[in-house]
Amino acid sequence: MELTCDTKYSFRLLQQMGGLLRRQWRLEQCLGKVRALASLSIDQTESETRLQSYMGIASYREDLLAAFWEGEPTALPRSTKLQCRCPFCGLDFVGKKDLSAHLSLAHRGERPVLLIAGREPESDATIRQSIGPDDVTVENCTLVRISRSGVPLRGNSPDTLRALLCDETNTVLEVDLMNRFETSADPISQFYRLSVRVPGKLELDAVDRDFVRLLASNNVHLSDIDYFLSRPSTQGVVREYADALGAYVRGVLVKDGRGGSTLPFSEGGILYGKALEILQSFRRPLPIVICSLVRLASNDFTLAREKTGFDRLDYCYAILAPTLGHSLPNLTENQTRLRRTIDKTVPLCPIDETLDTILTLAALNIEQQQSLAQYLRATEHPRLTGQDRAKIYVLLALAALQLNAAFEAREALRLLRNVYPFEAWATRELNTLEG
Ligand SMILES: [Zn+2]
Repeated sequence: MELTCDTKYSFRLLQQMGGLLRRQWRLEQCLGKVRALASLSIDQTESETRLQSYMGIASYREDLLAAFWEGEPTALPRSTKLQCRCPFCGLDFVGKKDLSAHLSLAHRGERPVLLIAGREPESDATIRQSIGPDDVTVENCTLVRISRSGVPLRGNSPDTLRALLCDETNTVLEVDLMNRFETSADPISQFYRLSVRVPGKLELDAVDRDFVRLLASNNVHLSDIDYFLSRPSTQGVVREYADALGAYVRGVLVKDGRGGSTLPFSEGGILYGKALEILQSFRRPLPIVICSLVRLASNDFTLAREKTGFDRLDYCYAILAPTLGHSLPNLTENQTRLRRTIDKTVPLCPIDETLDTILTLAALNIEQQQSLAQYLRATEHPRLTGQDRAKIYVLLALAALQLNAAFEAREALRLLRNVYPFEAWATRELNTLEG
């Protein structure tokens, strides 16, 4: 059948009428339901007028809703897979998993990072050692902002930062490294506040000389430390270093309860810790020896194999470290060196009394001149820390084992069975002894 223009118009009119009738029928249906639900006796004309201006109502399955109110999450219908859109390139993905995979492959941004001598500094760090250009690495960085002592610098690059870290000796650098890995994304940034305190060798030498002259004696007083810290050599960029040396000597006086010290005994260890924190950055004889003494005081044998140049201390480590699985240096060579050099020493720093006793006892072990009475007397010292007592018992047990004094060895080992870090060794030796 061919449709003329008029018939087309009539056909459309009929379609529209049909649509209207269908809508009218649906309206009647709804109206019936609403009336039944609300039991309202509203006349049809009025209700029709009202219905046209009413909002729709989403009906929800009563059992599911009840279950939801009861707190059953499973009552909620499961969502179908999410349509995800990449925020950077606009690509669409079905499901978050696919989008995550795409993001990590196509738009991955790494945190920018600064490495100094292979290590990332803390975000607020102090640099105490001089740095060479090869020691500074900057990775994942597209933009650098630097302020020196609060003044922003212009035209910065990783090379600017490298040059500053190598050249500056006494300043504060605030460094903002940024990685704009994606033009439409905020850059990832990493901030470092670097206090650069790198004294020169001559400045440090002057401090060490004053320290040895004023404080390397066995009769130091707190006022000597004050005097040392008032010396011109201890001012300026070396101040932190000098303060740390002072803290060590204060620790010695507190631990021994002498030299005008009134602080509680336990403060000694805290002062030792403060000294170690700063002094461990300096590769010089005085701080190396002090740090090694402080580590020995706290039974930290992690750097036991590093020679300090202070023979008695090195021998003490050589005796004690093997009990913790560190290999033993050649003691025969040590013995001869000990005899040869023992009278040719110069004072370097004070040592607290119990630590000094421990060094002496260790030397006795090495020279095989031990008498058990000396070790036993040392265990009765009134100002022993738990760590020092443990070391003395280890030396006692070692001496007793050498002398085949099984009873004394067993007694000492039993006391060490639960004492860190010697417990495993003590248990092993005890088992061998009791076979
Ligand atoms: Zn993308």
